Amino acid sequence: MLTIEVQKLSKTYSGRQVLKDIDFKVQSGEVFVLVGPNGAGKTTLLRILDLLEEPTEGRILFNETPVDYSAKDKVALRRRIGMLFQQTKLFDMSVSDNIAYGLKVRGEDKVTIEGKVRETLKLVQLQGYERKNALTLSGGEAQRVSLAQALVTEPELLLLDEPTANLDPRNISIIEEVLTNINREKRTTIIMATHNMFQAENLAHRVAMINNGKIEGVGTFQEIFGRPSEPVKNFVKFENVFSGLSTAFTEGTSIIDIGDRLKIEAAFKKSGYVMIHIPPEDIILSSQPIVSSARNMFEGRITQILETESAVKLKVKVGESKNFTVQVTKKSFKDLQLSIGTRIFLVFKASSVQII
Ligand code: ADP
Repeated sequence: MLTIEVQKLSKTYSGRQVLKDIDFKVQSGEVFVLVGPNGAGKTTLLRILDLLEEPTEGRILFNETPVDYSAKDKVALRRRIGMLFQQTKLFDMSVSDNIAYGLKVRGEDKVTIEGKVRETLKLVQLQGYERKNALTLSGGEAQRVSLAQALVTEPELLLLDEPTANLDPRNISIIEEVLTNINREKRTTIIMATHNMFQAENLAHRVAMINNGKIEGVGTFQEIFGRPSEPVKNFVKFENVFSGLSTAFTEGTSIIDIGDRLKIEAAFKKSGYVMIHIPPEDIILSSQPIVSSARNMFEGRITQILETESAVKLKVKVGESKNFTVQVTKKSFKDLQLSIGTRIFLVFKASSVQII
């Protein structure tokens, strides 16, 4: 059981403050999700919680005791924490040996290690992978091995930094399932950063909105995103952000494969990995497929409806996991007779696709 309290924490890098006056408390067994744009300070905060870095000001308390950064205490504390980064490096050895590493360092005996590795492989649904070389795995499988590495030592606190970024829907759902299970069964406290709003909504007991190094709000997903404050609204503006491999064509357009068998046509010419944004107000909704000059049309299903004072925002799920936000006027919303579950076509121009 581990409660975490962060008090008046600030972090400065070469004179620049990247975390300012951070205060929050996470209960034992809670799933606490950090959301916020790139550069907000989420990774820095997670690294400080993992005791990889010290705060410039303020302090962290584990079970109401302030962290002692002397080597001996830090090692003992870090053994109670598991951390999974967005990009992890596995060792050039078998999957089993990769997972066993943390247990060997702790001096566990061979039989215990074998049992725990087997159990953890089952948890991440990679039975049969024991002898495979870890470097031959797909991105999603490798991330599940990294998760197994973090879990095999049965941490009381699990820290996750964008653990499913760039993964395919199947691997995302396996990882989400593992996190739900260990939180429920082992009461593991989880603090995670994510860009995936649906993930935040599904997993979080509470969400902290972090922006520009400051916490702008802490509460349930509904409390934070149901009644959005200005900074939250700004973050939501960044919805419809996708990434993928872009192929440029001579006529000045590109096709971006965002995964999930979805390809978006854009009016720019760029090859390679790109991140794109489609403004929600640039997407047209239609109840029928339409023939138009707009180059992109996808069929999806409405999963959320948010009425604001002037307009209606809808979340539309396309394919297995891509979530689009669309903004329509109140009148269109009424005329189209939309409700949760309605199947709808999203149409937008190649020129609405912006590169970020
Ligand atoms: P997020 O994870 O929310 O994208 P980060 O914590 O990675 O944000 O970064 C917050 C800010 O701190 C960024 O402006 C980043 O450039 C800066 N930063 C992070 N680590 C360092 C470092 N070691 N030295 C200097 N600046 C850093």
